[in-house]
Amino acid sequence: MNYAEVSVNSPVAQRRTFTYSIPPHLDVRAGQAVYVPFGEKELQGIVFGLSDVASIEGVRDISGIIEDVPLVSPQHLTLARWISTYYLSPLFDAVSLVLPPGFERRPVTFLSPALRDVRLDSVTDDQKLVLETIGDNRVPLKTVEKVLGKKRASAAVSHLVRLGKLVRTYTLSPVRVKPKTELCVTCAAEMHNAPLTLRQAAVFEYVRTNGGDMSWTDIRQTVGADRSVLKRLEQKGLLSCREVEVPRDPVSYENIVPSSPLALVPAQQAALERITGALARAGESGAPDVFLLHGVTGSGKTEVYLQALAEAVRLGKKGIVLVPEIALTPQAIERFAARFPHKVAVLHSGLTLGEQYDEWRRIHDGEFDVVIGPRSALFAPQPDLGIIIIDEEHEWTYKQDTSPRYHTRDAAIKLAGLTGAAVVLGSATPDVESCFKADRGEYRLLELPERISVTGGALPSVTVVDMREELKAGNHGIFSRALSREVNRAVAAGEQVILFLNRRGGSTFIQCRRCGFVLRCRRCEVPLSYHHSVDKLTCHQCGGTSPNPKKCPECGSPGLKYLGMGTQKLEQEVGMAFPRARHLRWDSDTASDGSSHEQLLRTFREGRADILIGTQMVAKGLDIPSVTLVGVMNADTALNLPDFRAGERTFQLLSQVAGRAGRGAARGRVIIQTFTPDHYAIRAAAAHDYASFYQQEMEYREQLLNPPFARLSRLVYAHTNEAACQREAERMRDVLQAEMAAAGIAGIEIIGPAPVFIHRLRGKFRWHILLRGSGLSAFLGGIRFPQGWSIDIDPMNILQ
Ligand code: ADP
Ligand code: ZN
Ligand code: ZN
Repeated sequence: MNYAEVSVNSPVAQRRTFTYSIPPHLDVRAGQAVYVPFGEKELQGIVFGLSDVASIEGVRDISGIIEDVPLVSPQHLTLARWISTYYLSPLFDAVSLVLPPGFERRPVTFLSPALRDVRLDSVTDDQKLVLETIGDNRVPLKTVEKVLGKKRASAAVSHLVRLGKLVRTYTLSPVRVKPKTELCVTCAAEMHNAPLTLRQAAVFEYVRTNGGDMSWTDIRQTVGADRSVLKRLEQKGLLSCREVEVPRDPVSYENIVPSSPLALVPAQQAALERITGALARAGESGAPDVFLLHGVTGSGKTEVYLQALAEAVRLGKKGIVLVPEIALTPQAIERFAARFPHKVAVLHSGLTLGEQYDEWRRIHDGEFDVVIGPRSALFAPQPDLGIIIIDEEHEWTYKQDTSPRYHTRDAAIKLAGLTGAAVVLGSATPDVESCFKADRGEYRLLELPERISVTGGALPSVTVVDMREELKAGNHGIFSRALSREVNRAVAAGEQVILFLNRRGGSTFIQCRRCGFVLRCRRCEVPLSYHHSVDKLTCHQCGGTSPNPKKCPECGSPGLKYLGMGTQKLEQEVGMAFPRARHLRWDSDTASDGSSHEQLLRTFREGRADILIGTQMVAKGLDIPSVTLVGVMNADTALNLPDFRAGERTFQLLSQVAGRAGRGAARGRVIIQTFTPDHYAIRAAAAHDYASFYQQEMEYREQLLNPPFARLSRLVYAHTNEAACQREAERMRDVLQAEMAAAGIAGIEIIGPAPVFIHRLRGKFRWHILLRGSGLSAFLGGIRFPQGWSIDIDPMNILQ
């Protein structure tokens, strides 16, 4: 083969490959990383294919090979190609998913003398110096740069390469895995009489009473102080700090006791048999086997995953387990590590680049039976892939929100088709689209209808409180009488409480406080948002506007309200209503990453607070035995987001809350406050009834032609100027309409343009257009989008 098709790491390369000729001294294979000339530059590329003939004339030579062996498997090349074509992302973005972490930064240039002896007539002093430095060796370019300086070295080397006296080669630089350290604080004085600020005193007291070494992260979380406080205390000689090395192995097996498979209950056994049957006939049928494992929390799904993985391993295969990033807790990892000692690799965002690279290498070399991680772990180079498990498959974090905007589930199914692996999707509240596919036989449904009785307590009792009744009874506060009573009772009894607030969408939708009526767009059924600047109501889907009514169109009451409250406000209210309870606030302001979540959760677990106040995030951390009461402050805010999935999200969230409270000995209670107690999503969640929710939801989806009854794609335009943003969105709508007319396409509907719900993001205004129909990737793939546009195929989030 004389030519290679190369995906080049350049923004202008987009979705295509470029043809290069292979010089005779290079052995180039598909999947290999290379350097290629591109315009004036030398860029990285990945070889997608080889051919005997060039598709165009005058092709240039590949300049060098980055690693001797191909980095990307043929299956991963096909997967990357599919992602690029389907999600309309640049091909190099797509292939980057399967490259080693840090690949783009890592290659190091080397110089060596050329084999053929070229006579040089005139050599400059610089060039002579370069040749002398290199001699007969292969020398890093850096060495030459040290002698001559960057600029002169570059000029001299380029010249010598052109003359054929030198060749450049490249190698991925060795990983430098730095030991991980943590700041540790110890008490340096028992007593003090120095004047301290409140914060300083709090920190000092905390360290003193706990004695010994304390992690600074822990102190910062609990006491809420910053580094300057620590510094002052150090200067005063009260505390001392040092960096302590912490083990960097992603899984510490030290305290993990190996576990054996449990004897399965009949429903688990039946599910497992279906999966292992598929593993045995791997890849025979062509289309991959996809299972939807539907079972409430505590029904034993994880045990089924573990035994399915064990079977795959027995057949000489390996597995990938995907979980939402936030659910990747030490406890979750431990269950897998205990079943497959020293055979589990964990990929998570807390790893340094060096650690990620190190894991990638070891996975590539086949060291692990199981790779566990968030969505990106799907692309781990796990050889002999036999099974892919996606836990909590309904989570929308499985859709990546930057290019390439792939959905993990669909990419996993694609990969399974290429490798012969089986796919298991697990959830207590499956995405209705997955359930629909199971209904149609595209996926196979496996059900675990009950909790494992030996461990699971009874499901908590759920009370739905009608907030309209509270108003009628003269209660204008944010806590219903039932919730106040229960909080007081729980706190007095030494139990713990979680108050759950849906913050997104805060004060935008409009609801009548007397009858609960919500103003909606006549065309889209989407709740309208109020915009101060124009005193108008806007639909964020179709862009329609209407005047702001002064009275409720339903009951005539003037009590129309822009509902909404933040966690900070709730914290104040809690402080006033329950002055004797200790409370803790958990949201993205107080916990910004995985480790701080853990810290906050630990503080609460250890009983250092009575009430935990939080947003969506607390729903994931609800597995706390001493919590007996969960209060949902405002079920309506999630319900009334301008997104056709709002009902589904609310159902999922409330089910998660309702399924998790009261996991200890005492039976749990859940109180849901709402102005629309009859809403199907709220009713179904309160009754733990997925089937009735699904049925109602599918009816609405079909009526309004939303997925899965049609496909969507979303085009977002961002610009610093509001008017320019709107103009471009309108222009693009016209372009799309014209293109459709020209191509005779009738099956695509254009909705909008409309301002995006989260209208301003990172200093830019945003408008969007929705497309509904089929063949969207193919249609949009032929359209030229100016800079500023982003395209999302099968969007999961139309709010931001
Ligand atoms: P899920 O993943 O659906 O939440 P798990 O697999 O975590 O459920 O199971 C819930 C609990 O029940 C766990 O403590 C688990 O160890 C236990 N368990 C699961 N299957 C069995 C079984 N067959 N026999 C006994 N205990 C089980
Ligand atoms: Zn009303
Ligand atoms: Zn509308």
